[in-house]
Amino acid sequence: MADDTRWARVENARLLTCIDETVIENGTVVVDGELIAWAGPTADLPPKFASSDVDGDRLTVQDVGGATVMPGLVDGHMHISFGEPESEEELYIYTPSPYRAIRAAVNAEKVLLAGVTTACDPGGPIGIAAAVRDAVDVGLVQGPRLSVAGRQITTQQGIGDTLPRWVEIGDSSYGALVTSRDELLEEIRNEVKDGVDLVKIAGSGPGTTEYGAFRLDELELAVDEAHRLGRPVAMHARSRQSVADAVDAGIDWIMHASYMDLPTLERVIETGTPLLPAMTLLVNSLEAGTMAPATKDAMQRELDAAVSILTKAHQLGATLIAGSETGFAMTPYGQWHTREMELFVSHLGMSDIRAILCMTRDAAIAAPRHTRMVGTLEAGKYADFLVVDGRPDEDVTILADRRRFRSVVKGGLEVVPWRPADLPAIRQPFERGRPYTAGLYERQPT
Ligand SMILES: [Zn+2]
Repeated sequence: MADDTRWARVENARLLTCIDETVIENGTVVVDGELIAWAGPTADLPPKFASSDVDGDRLTVQDVGGATVMPGLVDGHMHISFGEPESEEELYIYTPSPYRAIRAAVNAEKVLLAGVTTACDPGGPIGIAAAVRDAVDVGLVQGPRLSVAGRQITTQQGIGDTLPRWVEIGDSSYGALVTSRDELLEEIRNEVKDGVDLVKIAGSGPGTTEYGAFRLDELELAVDEAHRLGRPVAMHARSRQSVADAVDAGIDWIMHASYMDLPTLERVIETGTPLLPAMTLLVNSLEAGTMAPATKDAMQRELDAAVSILTKAHQLGATLIAGSETGFAMTPYGQWHTREMELFVSHLGMSDIRAILCMTRDAAIAAPRHTRMVGTLEAGKYADFLVVDGRPDEDVTILADRRRFRSVVKGGLEVVPWRPADLPAIRQPFERGRPYTAGLYERQPT
């Protein structure tokens, strides 16, 4: 797409509008500036768009030669500020926030080049994701359109507060510990003042498959206050009780839901609450194989539980959203965004095209800042789309291969890398903690 032309016609496309599972074998997309003017079967193209100009403006034509054209991906769950940490300590403590922000701005481009034109960042240190979002919006840096949460609101039992009580954590933490209903309200009001697009609750923590971090009445209060202020609420909920309470409290979408029980699944279906499993982090962690055996066993048990209940959820028609949990050392930026779709196919028995809908149409709800403008190729939405060699609707693994992308288009403009792709990943020592030595220095007998 030429950047000096307002009108463009992308033709000879295998078109996935992702409004539903339909594949249009010969489709056309007409772009008007940053928006889609029309998309559909070429046979139905309105005469107005068939000529070489529209309303006196020149219209450029791009023949994609039968390549697949589909919406830009919507990653429902990634943390732009995390910086690929290998440990909780690294994530919480060492790196100064200003450095995290600069690093995040660079990583945003990697995410975009992976075909992710929209993403949700459900929680990080104060202000970083929002700053990247705003910098992307004005073109200071390149990245996906972001919807962001502030710090993840947690109790002592949630993932936002996992270090010992005697370790005081400041601004570098992605968690905001609240110890009363008043603090819960205050945190939500502060975050809204800071410009968040959603509120994230850390509704369960490590060490339990059973109880939640908050009481049901506390969750109800949080949802009520966030909704009053016009913000949806997403919740991290792995344990049984946390998923059940999330549904009952009216949480807008639930992350993980690994230990959800059957009665809760029935409520999920009844209420239409979307689930965002993010199994990618579990599977990648298990495959990486660098964990202690006990941690590995616990993760395998969680994955087994999640696969079992989420397969049922899929069969019963629950809305599943694909989110990659990109941002950890097991999920580096730009590499694993599409794996969740692969896992939906391989582990939950989903068809490839259905999995694609989970990372386009159905993921748009997890991007509240842009929900109505992204996820499908329809007139009036952003011209965010991918031109892909092959048929991802028949084999979703194609989308993990960057060489298959002929172009990533965001807002009607083809994305061109600003940084050389082969720059080495250089790290500051403080990003990894401060080891004295790699082992014991043992005294040898003289
Ligand atoms: Zn997360």
